[in-house]
Amino acid sequence: MKYSILSDIFKKLDSTTKRLEMIEILIELFNKTPIENFRHVIYLTSGKIGADYKNLDFGFADKMVIKVIAKAVGKPVKQISDLYKQIGDLGEVAELLIKETGQQHLGAFFQTTTSKQKNSLTIEDVWNNLHKIVNTEGKGSASKKTNILLGMFSEASPNEAKYITRTVLTQLRLGVKDLTIIEALSRKFGDGKEARVKIERAYNVTSDIGEVGEVLARNGMEGIEKITIQVGRPIRMMAAQRMASIEEILEKLGGECALEFKYDGERVQGHILNDDVSLYSRNLNEISSMYPDVEKALKNSLKSKDIIVEGEITAWDPVDEKLKPFQILMSRKRKYGINEAVQSIPVKVFLFDILYIDGESLLEKSYPQRRKILESNILDNDIIVLSSRKIVSSPVLFEEYFENAIENGCEGIMAKDTRDETQYQAGNRGFLWIKHKFDYSESFADSYDFIVVGGFYGKGRRKGTLGTLLMAAFNAEEERFETVCKLGSGFTDEDLAKVTEDLMKLKVEQRPKDVISKMTPDVWIQPTKVYEIQGADLSTSPIHTCALDEIKKDTGIAIRFPRFIRFRDDKNPDQATTTSEIINAYKNQRTKNR
Ligand code: ATP
Repeated sequence: MKYSILSDIFKKLDSTTKRLEMIEILIELFNKTPIENFRHVIYLTSGKIGADYKNLDFGFADKMVIKVIAKAVGKPVKQISDLYKQIGDLGEVAELLIKETGQQHLGAFFQTTTSKQKNSLTIEDVWNNLHKIVNTEGKGSASKKTNILLGMFSEASPNEAKYITRTVLTQLRLGVKDLTIIEALSRKFGDGKEARVKIERAYNVTSDIGEVGEVLARNGMEGIEKITIQVGRPIRMMAAQRMASIEEILEKLGGECALEFKYDGERVQGHILNDDVSLYSRNLNEISSMYPDVEKALKNSLKSKDIIVEGEITAWDPVDEKLKPFQILMSRKRKYGINEAVQSIPVKVFLFDILYIDGESLLEKSYPQRRKILESNILDNDIIVLSSRKIVSSPVLFEEYFENAIENGCEGIMAKDTRDETQYQAGNRGFLWIKHKFDYSESFADSYDFIVVGGFYGKGRRKGTLGTLLMAAFNAEEERFETVCKLGSGFTDEDLAKVTEDLMKLKVEQRPKDVISKMTPDVWIQPTKVYEIQGADLSTSPIHTCALDEIKKDTGIAIRFPRFIRFRDDKNPDQATTTSEIINAYKNQRTKNR
């Protein structure tokens, strides 16, 4: 399959923000895609070359790509940089210049190495070259990567060069999210809604949209139904709803529920197969290398050697035998000096779920059944333990357990539904788990996870840094980011230094297509980073776009007096607080105020 077919589709996707149109365009693409290219086409449309959890990194920065374009078109680097400042998108710069200069310069450049013609690139060519780029490491890797990109430019049409450039910069920005692809797949291969549920299940179990697409192309819906858990491949995690009133939680869960401590650490999904252990974080990144102690403990402390469990890794004080705050655990998140950190920051893992054992998926089993299997599988040891738990059926006992959790250094409790229909809902945030945190009980101070979409430069002492950030909630239905507040307080000087350093790498010249904003910040930021904030309350706002027109015409909902709490590097933007959660919180607050 020619890459030009895909890049023409990208152009069409680029020209619309409407989800339905995107779905139609994707179906058109699938109709043109041979079976053997399905996987490639799906990943490339998401700007990736593998499943998300594989952490594949092209390692290209703007400056490197500017140099490649300069070389490709035989123009000075300064001219490319100036054009970039003017246009704001290196993809467009590459397109424009290659159109202008034609392939003559490149043809001459590559005369000795290639006899290929413009427009001859196939999907396989691009795929293999992108993989080569990712796999080129170590000394001299920058120039090797550069040459591979240059080679692709020599065969690319202007439009192809545009999307190749954006891909290697991880700024494809077509606005196509996994759920949109799932919708298109279910219309192509199934009969709509019913098929979508099945495809979504397969996606939640594999965390791999390319795999799902390929299975569909090869074996249709029959193949999808056969997809099952594989140890070593993360399962999208089940999440919890939030509720502020104990009475309402009890009522929602049928008058009786299990309460567990809500430990304040890092969620982990541990996959164990004999001697192989892999650990995945909340956003399914592999974190095994950071926790060799947890790896070892999991290998030795579970009866089964073919098992997937979930729990919370927390910093632990072995002398006083108590939990330590989340911030302490964060010092374990590093690339170097791991062994020292293992010694200086001991951890415990509180297991709260089990998803698979000895060849059998446990996702369909009820929570009480899963808990029983988990309980019977932990051997006596120091690191891997069960989460604390109690069944309650009265608000008094609930409150008592909640206080106990806070006294023990937890954030609050997780209330879990103990009835029969309580399977593990992979990838879903439902009411089978309800979180109730300490901050909910203090007036309206509630915490949210928002995505940074823009920044305003600071004044005075904060000059040169990003002093205030434009934050957005995730609209899961429309798959876009809607602004909800400006965040300028709660940062320490150290935080602010990290904020500027992290965010300036994600600066983009134009408003990303999937960011909906009435405001124009000093800089736009690619919606990637999630920060936890706490707000005093929610109010309607004419300047923010979250839940626009839902409560009042031309008006959104905003968080008042937001304060930064912490970085949530363990979350992806689509795991942030959603617009519908904000609408619910706003409505609940109004009911309470009456
Ligand atoms: P939050 O931002 O509230 O920490 P989250 O958005 O990361 O939560 P939620 O599913 O909303 O995820 O809250 C549940 C989180 O609480 C889990 O992801 C897990 O990390 C943590 N947790 C701590 N203790 C438990 C427990 N006993 N059972 C389930 N989750 C727990």
